[in-house]
Amino acid sequence: MKFAENNNQAAEYLRQAVPLMVKHNIPPNPLNYALWYTYVSDRVPELNVQLDKTLTTYGTCPTMLSEQLFREHMIKDEINGADDVQASLIGLINDLHEHAGNAAEKTEDFSNVLEESLEALHQNEDGESSLPIESIIHALSDHTKSVSETARLFQERMNEAQAEIQSLKEELNKTRQDARVDPLTNLFNRRAFDAEISQLAGVNDPNLIASFVLVDIDHFKRFNDTYGHLMGDKVLQYVGKLLKEVCPEPMLPVRFGGEEFAVLMPQTDKEAAAELAEQVRQKIQAIRIKQKKSGDIISSITASFGVSQFTIGESSEQLIERTDKALYQAKDGGRNQVVISS
Ligand code: GH3
Ligand code: MG
Ligand code: MG
Repeated sequence: MKFAENNNQAAEYLRQAVPLMVKHNIPPNPLNYALWYTYVSDRVPELNVQLDKTLTTYGTCPTMLSEQLFREHMIKDEINGADDVQASLIGLINDLHEHAGNAAEKTEDFSNVLEESLEALHQNEDGESSLPIESIIHALSDHTKSVSETARLFQERMNEAQAEIQSLKEELNKTRQDARVDPLTNLFNRRAFDAEISQLAGVNDPNLIASFVLVDIDHFKRFNDTYGHLMGDKVLQYVGKLLKEVCPEPMLPVRFGGEEFAVLMPQTDKEAAAELAEQVRQKIQAIRIKQKKSGDIISSITASFGVSQFTIGESSEQLIERTDKALYQAKDGGRNQVVISS
C-alpha cells in the first residue's frame, strides 16, 4: 500500500488518529499508527467496518486482530511475498532435479561408451577389431572428462543448494519463533494471550463485560504415566478442538501451558461463561478413546474449571490469580467441576 497524501493532509490524519488510539487503549506502535492513520483517512472502507465491529466487541482492538487487519487490508500484496520461501524451495528442487537428470544422462552415455569399448577390445583380442585401440582410449578419455565435469558442476550446484536451504531454514525458524500459535493444539499460546489480556484489562470502559476461564486437566500426570505421553498429546489436541468448537470468535481459547487452557470471553458475564465451561466439562468427561493395542476404552478424562469476570481497574495478573484460586477450589472440591470466583 502506498500513501500519497501531502504533508498537511498526513499531519491532519495523524492528529486525528492519535487521540482515537489513546481512547481505545491501542498500543502505540508503528503497525497501529499505520492502521489508525488509514482508518481516519477512510481510504479502505472495509477496514473501517471491521475495526468498528472489533471496537464494539472488545472496547479496544486486540493485538492479534490489529495484525490480522493490517495483513488483510494494508499489506495484502506485499504479504503474498511470504509465499516466496515456498516458491524458492520448489524452484530449488526443480533445479536440482534437472541437474541430477543431466548427470544421470551423462553417466548413462558413459556406461554405453564403456560397453561399446569393451566389446571393441574383446573383438580386438580375437584379432577382428573394427576400432584401433588408440581411438577406443580416446573415446573413453573424452567421456570420462565429460562425466567428471558434469559431476563437478553437480557437486557445485549441490553446495550452493545446501547454503540456500540453510538460509531458507533459518528464515522459517525465525518465523516459527515469532509465531504465537501452539504447534500441538493450533490454539494461540500464552505469549499471545498475555498481550491480549493486558490490553483488555487496560480498557477503562464501565460498560465492558468480559470473563476469563481457566481449564486444567485432572490427574494428567497419572494419565500420561498410565497411557503414555503420545496418548496424552492426543487428549490435549482433542481438548483444544473442543474449546474451539464451544468457544468461537470473538472468544479466544488458548493453550495456557502444559495441560492448562484458558478462554477469554468478551461480552460474556461470569454466569454465561460458567455455562460454557460446564459444556466443555461435560464434553471432556464424555471423551472415549479406544486403545489400539488392547482395545480397552479409556473413559477417565476430566477437567476442572475456574471462572471469573473482569472487574474494572483490576490488573491482568490479579484477574488470573483470582481465577486460579477458583480453579484450585474446583480441584479441592473433588475435581471435574466448575467454580465461579466471587
Ligand atoms: P491435577 O489434577 O492436580 O491438575 O494433577 P495433574 O497430574 O494434572 O497436575 P500436575 O501439574 O502434577 O501434572 C501435569 C502433567 O501434565 C505433567 C505433565 O507430564 C503433563 N503435561 C504437560 N504438558 C504436556 C504435554 O504437552 N503433553 C503431555 N502428554 N503431557 C503434558
Ligand atoms: Mg496444571
Ligand atoms: Mg492438571
